[in-house]
Amino acid sequence: MPADPAELLRQRGYRVTGQRLAVLRAVSREPHVTADAVAKTVRAEIGAISLQAVYDVLAALTRAGLTRRIEPAGSPARYETRVGDNHHHVVCRVCGAVSDVDCLVGEPPCVLPNESSGYVIDEAEVTFWGLCPTCRTTSNPHQKETG
Ligand SMILES: [Zn+2]
Ligand SMILES: [Zn+2]
Ligand SMILES: [Zn+2]
Repeated sequence: MPADPAELLRQRGYRVTGQRLAVLRAVSREPHVTADAVAKTVRAEIGAISLQAVYDVLAALTRAGLTRRIEPAGSPARYETRVGDNHHHVVCRVCGAVSDVDCLVGEPPCVLPNESSGYVIDEAEVTFWGLCPTCRTTSNPHQKETG
């Protein structure tokens, strides 16, 4: 969360609104949050806001560089205020939990293919998949047949 999000919005040419600030606060409190969850938090704080409005605000904040949008395969888009460090994510295959993984390089592209088919590569989006600590301890391979 930047020290003064209102000032940052202004600097980047975005109007400062109560909705934008409330959405930004919601995302900063709960990293990798979905738009649905943001809508719930914001409604509790400032009252009625449509899910579409939340999506619009999240899109504006992401364009302004205040939030980052990630979309792991099979998951709705998630938002975070940790921006600009090109960090990556590890996603749990069972429950969908998302955690940050620091980028070893810190700036894109952190890995390059041997052969790029003539493309100029400017970013590598790395997602690690596995089992989170909770699912690792609760998953019992012998009980899988019931599912
Ligand atoms: Zn899990
Ligand atoms: Zn993250
Ligand atoms: Zn990296």
